[in-house]
Amino acid sequence: MRITMIGSGYVGLVSGACFSDFGHDVVCVDKDERKIEALKAGRIPIFEPGLEELVKRNVEEHRLSFTTDLVASVAVADAVFIAVGTPSRGSDGHADLSYVHGAAEEIARAMKRFTVVVDKSTVPVGTGDEVERIIRETNPDADFAVVSNPEFLREGAAISDFKHPDRIVIGSDDPRGMQVMREIYRPLFLGGKAPILEMSRRSAELTKYAGNAFLATKITFINEVADLCERVGADVRDVARGIGLDNRIGQKFLNAGPGYGGSCFPKDTLALLKTAQDSEAPQRIVEAVVAVNDERKRAMGRKVIAACGGDVQGKRIAILGLTFKPNTDDMRDSPSIEIINVLQGAGAQIAACDPEGVDQSRAVLNDVTYCASPWEAAEGAAAVVIVTEWDAYRALDLDRLKSLLAQPVLVDLRNVYERDTVEAAGLTYIAVGR
Ligand code: NAD
Repeated sequence: MRITMIGSGYVGLVSGACFSDFGHDVVCVDKDERKIEALKAGRIPIFEPGLEELVKRNVEEHRLSFTTDLVASVAVADAVFIAVGTPSRGSDGHADLSYVHGAAEEIARAMKRFTVVVDKSTVPVGTGDEVERIIRETNPDADFAVVSNPEFLREGAAISDFKHPDRIVIGSDDPRGMQVMREIYRPLFLGGKAPILEMSRRSAELTKYAGNAFLATKITFINEVADLCERVGADVRDVARGIGLDNRIGQKFLNAGPGYGGSCFPKDTLALLKTAQDSEAPQRIVEAVVAVNDERKRAMGRKVIAACGGDVQGKRIAILGLTFKPNTDDMRDSPSIEIINVLQGAGAQIAACDPEGVDQSRAVLNDVTYCASPWEAAEGAAAVVIVTEWDAYRALDLDRLKSLLAQPVLVDLRNVYERDTVEAAGLTYIAVGR
C-alpha cells in the first residue's frame, strides 16, 4: 500500500515509520521545512525511544521518505493519513480544527485517484463529516472515502504501543474505505492478537475521547484518594494495589501524583466537555475531573511551599524532571509548568534539570536556571522536588543530596522513594498520599 502521512510529529512520524516497517511505502509530509530537513539528514526532531533506528532502517530500505511536497505524494497514495495537531482553541476548550481542515483542503486539490482519507488526529464527533464536505466542495470530482482511525499510542512507548496495540479502531460507513484499512493493518493482526474494531465514523471519533476521559478520571480518582490517605494515615500505594488487583479495576493508571498533563488528556477532556455542552448531554464526572486536576497542580506548588516551612521567598528550589512523563521531550501541559509558576509566584528561584525536556521547556518557562544534573540543581536549594520520575532520579545518592542542600527536604511527587531510606539519610521526606 502507498501511504502518505500528513504531519510528521509524535503520531505521524511514529505511525509512518511503523507502517513502513510492515512493508508499506510511506511518505511522511510536514509543512515545517526544518523538521523535514532534519529527517532527511537522519536527525529525529523529537525524543522517542527506538525511533531513530526504526526510521534509519526503513529509509535505507527505501520504504520511508520525507517531504514538504504534499501534492506529489497524495496524488499516488492509496491512503492519506491526517496526523496534524488538534490543540485546544483558546478558552472555550473546543479542539482547534484549523490544521485538520487545512490538510483536508490540500489533500482534495492533490487527489488524482480513489483515495482513502484517514483521520488519525484526535477530533470531535462530526469532524469526519466536515472533512468529507471540505473535500467534496474543494474538488467535486474527487473519488474518496473518509475514515476515522484514532491513535492510542503513548509517548515514551510509542513504537511498542503502535506495533502491539490493545485494539485498532476503524470508523467508516464506506466498504471501500474499510477494505483499504484492513489491508493496511493486516500485518498487525496476522497473529490474531490485536482486534480490529469496525464501527461507524462517529463512534470511532467518540471512542478516542471517551477513552482519554476515562483514563484521566482514573488518575484523578486515585489522586483524591491520596489526599484522603494523607488525612487518615493510610498509604495510597497499598490502597491502589489493593483495588488494582481487582480485575474489574486494573492496576494501571493508579499511581497518585501531581495531576495529569501532556499533549492529550488536558485538551481532549476539554474538547469532550465542549461536545457534551453543544449536544446538551453534560458529562458531569469529566467536568469534575478537569476542575480537580487543574486545582491539583497548583496544590502541588503549595505543598512544596509548605514543605519549606511556608515561605520560599528568595529561596532556591531544585526541580527534577520537567516533561509530563519520563522518556519524552514533550512539555505540552506538563504539571511542572503550573507547579513552577506557583513557586515563582511565591518568590522562589527555580533550578531545574531534565534529561530531554530542557529545549521545549525554554519556550514555556521563564527565569529558570537549567542545570546539567540533579547535583547542580540541588546545590544551596531549600528543597529538591521530584516532578517527573525519570530513571535517572530513582536512585539518587541521598547522602550526597543532603550535603548539597541548604535545607534537607525531599518532596517526592511521584512516590519513587521509601520514607525509611530517605529519613535515614537525614532528609525530611514529603510524598503523595502516604
Ligand atoms: P505534533 O504537533 O507533534 O505534530 C503535528 C505536525 O503536523 C506538526 O509537525 C505540524 O507542522 C504538522 N502539520 C500541521 N498542518 C500540516 C499540514 N497542512 N501539512 C503538513 N504538516 C502539517 O502533534 P502530535 O502529538 O503528533 O498529535 C497529532 C494528533 O494525534 C493530535 O490530534 C493528537 O491529539 C493526536 N494524538 C497524539 C498522541 C501523542 O501522544 N502525542 C497520541 C494519540 C493521539
